[in-house]
Amino acid sequence: MSRIASTTVLHKIPLAFLPTPLEPLSRLSAHLGGPEIWVKRDDCTGLGGGGNKTRKLEYLMAAAVAAGADTVITAGALQSNHARQTAAAAARQGLRCILVLAAAVPGRGTCYDANGNMLLDRLFGAEMHLFPTGADLDAEMAKICADVSASGATPYLIPIGGSNGIGALAYAVAMEELDLQCREHALAFDHIVTATGSGGTQAGMIVGARLAGIAAPIHGISVSASSADMQAKLERIAEQTLELLPGAGGARPILVDDTFVGPGYGQPTDAMWEALSTCARLEGLLLDPVYTGKAMAGLFAYIRSGRVGAQERVLFWHTGGAQGLFGYEDYLTPKA
Ligand SMILES: *Cc1c(COP(=O)(O)O)cnc(C)c1O
Repeated sequence: MSRIASTTVLHKIPLAFLPTPLEPLSRLSAHLGGPEIWVKRDDCTGLGGGGNKTRKLEYLMAAAVAAGADTVITAGALQSNHARQTAAAAARQGLRCILVLAAAVPGRGTCYDANGNMLLDRLFGAEMHLFPTGADLDAEMAKICADVSASGATPYLIPIGGSNGIGALAYAVAMEELDLQCREHALAFDHIVTATGSGGTQAGMIVGARLAGIAAPIHGISVSASSADMQAKLERIAEQTLELLPGAGGARPILVDDTFVGPGYGQPTDAMWEALSTCARLEGLLLDPVYTGKAMAGLFAYIRSGRVGAQERVLFWHTGGAQGLFGYEDYLTPKA
C-alpha cells in the first residue's frame, strides 16, 4: 500500500483516468534551446472534459456522499473549470448541482458569458446563479445553502476551486503517482512548474512532495493573487492537508510568482498568447488563457533567464482548462 493511502482516513469516488500520462515535449525543448521539458497531462483526467479539479472532486464528492448530501454547491468565475468539472461529477453521482458564478473578468464579450465552460455547465444540467464582478461568492453560497436546507434538501458546500484540505489531499496523492512514473522512466526532475489559483493544487503537491521524497522545487505561477497573499493561502491549505495526513512534516519554502498575472485574473497577456500558440503549433498541445497559458509563459521566462538551466529537466504540470478557450474567441481570432 502506498505511504499516503495507508495513512489516509478519507475515501474517494473514482472519477478520473489515472495515472495521467507523462510525456516529453521535445520540439518545445529544442525551440527554447535547452532544458528537457516534460508534461504531466492532468488535462486528460477525462471527466466532463477533464482538468485538475477532477482529482480533487474524487475526495470532495466522496465527502459529500458520506455526509448524506443530495445537492452540491460551489462557486467560481463564469468560465470556471472547477464549476464545470463539479457539474459533471454531480451528474455522474446523481446529485443536484448549484453553481454560484460571477462575471469576474471585465471587458469580455458574449462568448465569455455563454460559450466554453458556461455552455458545458448547462449541458451537465447544473443550476446557475449569476452575480456581477466583485460579488461576495462565499456569502452568496452560504445564503443558497441555507435556502436549500430550509427546503428540506441536504446541501454540501465545496469551496471555490475545491481548495481545502480534502481537495488538496488529491494532489498530495498525485505526487506519489508522479514518483512512481519517474521510477518507471528512470528520471528525476530538477523543477516542477504549475499554475496556481485557489491554491489547493500546489499546496497538495508541496505536502505530497515531502511524503514521496521529491526534492524538486515546485514553482507556482499565480494567475490572480499577489505572491504574499498566495503564499499565506498555500500555507493555510497545506496545514489543513497535513491534518489529514499526519507524519508529512518538514517544511520547505513555498515558491509562488505573481510576475505573470498581467492586468488581472482571466485577462490575456502577450506572454500568455506566445506560450499558448507556441505549444499548439510545436506540440499540438492545448493550453488555456486563464491558467496554463500564463504558467507556461512563466516557464518560458524561467528558461530564458536561466532560472531553469539548459542542462536541467523540468516538469510542466498541465492542469487543463482548454474548454475556456471558447470564451476567448474574440481575443484568439487573428487580428492581422
Ligand atoms: C483551477 C485551475 C488551476 C489552479 O488550481 P488551484 O488548485 O485552484 O490553484 C489551474 N489550472 C486550471 C486549468 C484550473 O482550472
